[in-house]
Amino acid sequence: MKRIFSDYAYGEGPRDGCWWDETCDLPPQPVLGGDITCDVAIIGGGFTGLSAALHLAQSGASVALIEAKHIGWGASGRNGGFCCLGGGKASDAMLDRRFGKDGRLEWRRAERAAVELVGALIDMYGWDVDRHSRGETLLAHRPRDVAALEAEAEKVAENYGVTAELIASDQLRPLGMRGPFHGALTTPVGFGLNPRKYLRGLLDATLRARAQVFERSTVVAIDGPVVTTDQGRVRAERIILATNGYSSEDLPRWMAARYMPTQSTVMVTRPLTDDEIAAQGWHIDQMAYDTRNLLHYFRLMPDRRFLIGMRGGLRSSECAEVQARAAVVRDFQRMFPAWAHVDVTHCWSGFVCLTRDQMPFVGPVPGHPHLLAGFAFHGNGVAMGSFAGRTLADLAQGQTPALYPKAVQRPVARFPLGQFRRAIMPPVYAALGLRDRCG
Ligand SMILES: Cc1cc2nc3c(=O)[nH]c(=O)nc-3n(C[C@H](O)[C@H](O)[C@H](O)COP(=O)(O)OP(=O)(O)OC[C@H]3O[C@@H](n4cnc5c(N)ncnc54)[C@H](O)[C@@H]3O)c2cc1C
Repeated sequence: MKRIFSDYAYGEGPRDGCWWDETCDLPPQPVLGGDITCDVAIIGGGFTGLSAALHLAQSGASVALIEAKHIGWGASGRNGGFCCLGGGKASDAMLDRRFGKDGRLEWRRAERAAVELVGALIDMYGWDVDRHSRGETLLAHRPRDVAALEAEAEKVAENYGVTAELIASDQLRPLGMRGPFHGALTTPVGFGLNPRKYLRGLLDATLRARAQVFERSTVVAIDGPVVTTDQGRVRAERIILATNGYSSEDLPRWMAARYMPTQSTVMVTRPLTDDEIAAQGWHIDQMAYDTRNLLHYFRLMPDRRFLIGMRGGLRSSECAEVQARAAVVRDFQRMFPAWAHVDVTHCWSGFVCLTRDQMPFVGPVPGHPHLLAGFAFHGNGVAMGSFAGRTLADLAQGQTPALYPKAVQRPVARFPLGQFRRAIMPPVYAALGLRDRCG
């Protein structure tokens, strides 16, 4: 495989210390050995691949899902557990320019439908995923962002058809959101979950629906309808690529430079005591994020551990990982000083995935008649990855998805600089960081 970060990024180092691994077992699956035939082969065992497998198997297709490491090894087993709106970074103005107002609203409907899909799966199967939070709260990190929240409230109404609640700065403390913030906006869509428990639910249901799931099986080639792994082969009518930020430049060549893996780092504390929670004044169980471009996302979880995440390092190595982890702990202690003494028991990193178009791609891969792909959820793939998986399942069976936004159908453009495209990110981060600090 040909990837754009050092081997360290694709090994166990960044994953080491992931809290979710301790919260629930995922039963091991066999290695693919020998030749098999099925209707659909799926590459990648995260939310996208598993959701595709589940929806396909439920409608009677024979399915083989192939994962290089183990289920949830990629971003799906390492994220912050925000099941929320999002999936693209393109602004309303960009979407209007590219797809018209109808195209923008169609995409926004999909964002909401994605959250509803995850909620419906959890309810239908009765999965216990430690669900909490009524929607998501955006916190102004500087006074001038309060006006932006007001403008955002109007956009939320138009885009999602819900009323977002503006919260004045003097209300933050009584509501249990004391911190370095100047106002807030709560959008009543989304909830927090334990991503590994959600993966467990998806895996169990997928296996019960008679899909085959293989682990420790790396796909090394896709030739027409044949997927070759290190020890086996699958011949399938359709192949779904669900490798997101862990994709390879040559699997297939079409992927080269169309995705940008970008690191995000998360930390989790030990459970906080009632006194500690009272001392900081943050006791709401609402998932929250701040108005920075390089944002922090955080939530007090049902077991009273506090989770906070932010952008990770630009390089990947043991040393860069130590620095990225130190940076998130530093920001946590600065934002929540009453908890500065609290042990940070877990910290880890993983890849989110961006595109040049700032939108995901979900659909047939041009020039590859058997191949479909779904990737680049811009750090919001709990809901949108699940939704993309269901969309790909419909497409693989020749069905028209009930909601298939034009905004994700257009093949995304290549980044400049090809395999050296990571060089774009330092100046981008520097500019975004400067904007966050101004004012
Ligand atoms: C630290 C962090 C925090 C995040 N927080 C949130 C959040 O709070 N909310 C949210 O919505 N999103 C969040 N995200 C993003 C979200 O986790 C992802 O968008 C989502 O998990 C993508 O799912 P996926 O199935 O498409 O890809 P992944 O889960 O990354 O799965 C891809 C899989 O493909 C496998 N693979 C790659 N190549 C091959 C091959 N050749 N053969 C076989 N298998 C292969 C990999 O091993 C990997 O397991 C976060 C991501 C990170 C890293």
